[in-house]
Amino acid sequence: MSIQSDLSAAVGHTPLIRLRHASELTGCEVLAKAEMLNPGGSIKDRTALGLVLDAEQRGQLLPGGVIVEGTAGNTGIGLALVGASRGHRTVIFMPNTQSAEKIAALKMAGADVHLVPAVPYSDPNHYSHHARRYAETQNVAKAGSAWFANQFDNTANRDYHTATTAVEIWEQTAGAVDGFVCSAGTGGTLAGVAFGLKARKPGVRIALSDPTGSALANYILHGELAASGNSISEGIGSSRITANFDGAPIDTAYSIPDTESVPLLHQLLEAEGWCVGGSSGVNMAGAIRLARELGPGHTVVTILADAGTRYQAKLFNPPFLREKGIPVPAWLDRAFPTTPTRATAA
Ligand code: PMP
Repeated sequence: MSIQSDLSAAVGHTPLIRLRHASELTGCEVLAKAEMLNPGGSIKDRTALGLVLDAEQRGQLLPGGVIVEGTAGNTGIGLALVGASRGHRTVIFMPNTQSAEKIAALKMAGADVHLVPAVPYSDPNHYSHHARRYAETQNVAKAGSAWFANQFDNTANRDYHTATTAVEIWEQTAGAVDGFVCSAGTGGTLAGVAFGLKARKPGVRIALSDPTGSALANYILHGELAASGNSISEGIGSSRITANFDGAPIDTAYSIPDTESVPLLHQLLEAEGWCVGGSSGVNMAGAIRLARELGPGHTVVTILADAGTRYQAKLFNPPFLREKGIPVPAWLDRAFPTTPTRATAA
């Protein structure tokens, strides 16, 4: 018999999948952790569980407590589901620019959702500051009643990836991994895996795959936070160095435009059957660049962070893609034909 006792036990242990197109293109084994298969549908279930377990152990999150967080969506879904299974309530602050599918998923997960305007971190009304203030107010009213998860700067986030994601990658490749690449939001995944793999194999090459509009790639390459352009990807990129990202052993970085990443996820669905979100496209583009840099015969690992169904109205919507200057594959046009206007129909 093999039975998982609860939702927490079902987080992680995801399959490592060979990406056929990326492997054939580069002559490398390009592999990806299928993190959309987590209970809440994303890599952030790991972060949520890692943060909650750490807070429970430290006595910061008491039985029947309230979890408070600022999140672009996936961490909130993970916290709400992990919280529900462990007897905690969840209050989420998120920017009002995130996909309707993610907002609905959060509400379905039972979270108390507060949408706030999308402003830079330096603005006191950034969603993360809203969450911190809310927890502080609750704790003034009743000490210990609310816990601010603080995914960006609470390093229990990256430590959990070192203890789980990195170990799984090491074991699933039997130590043959030559390179790891992924994007960063909090930086927990990239930093945690980087620490875990470098400890086992110092020569492993670690790369950041950064969407245009984020300042992190320039920071890794030139030591200075600077950004240009923008991206429709969600949950990744940053204008600051978080505690989770800080000091991580990252060797190089790639700045990836949407015109490079989105076609990869369209092709992955059409030819390989995996339906993934925008950050996974950025990760795949980074994996192809890293594989080319390392040369044929190497093993490169990346992350499929969440499912494309969470972004149907953007990533799989021909008019939206055209508006953004992103190519629309023929099969997607056939699947979602644009209703002709009166003028063009005549
Ligand atoms: N991909 C998606 C879809 C995400 O939601 C996030 C986190 N917001 C990331 C990637 C980045 O992960 P991390 O926070 O560990 O850097």
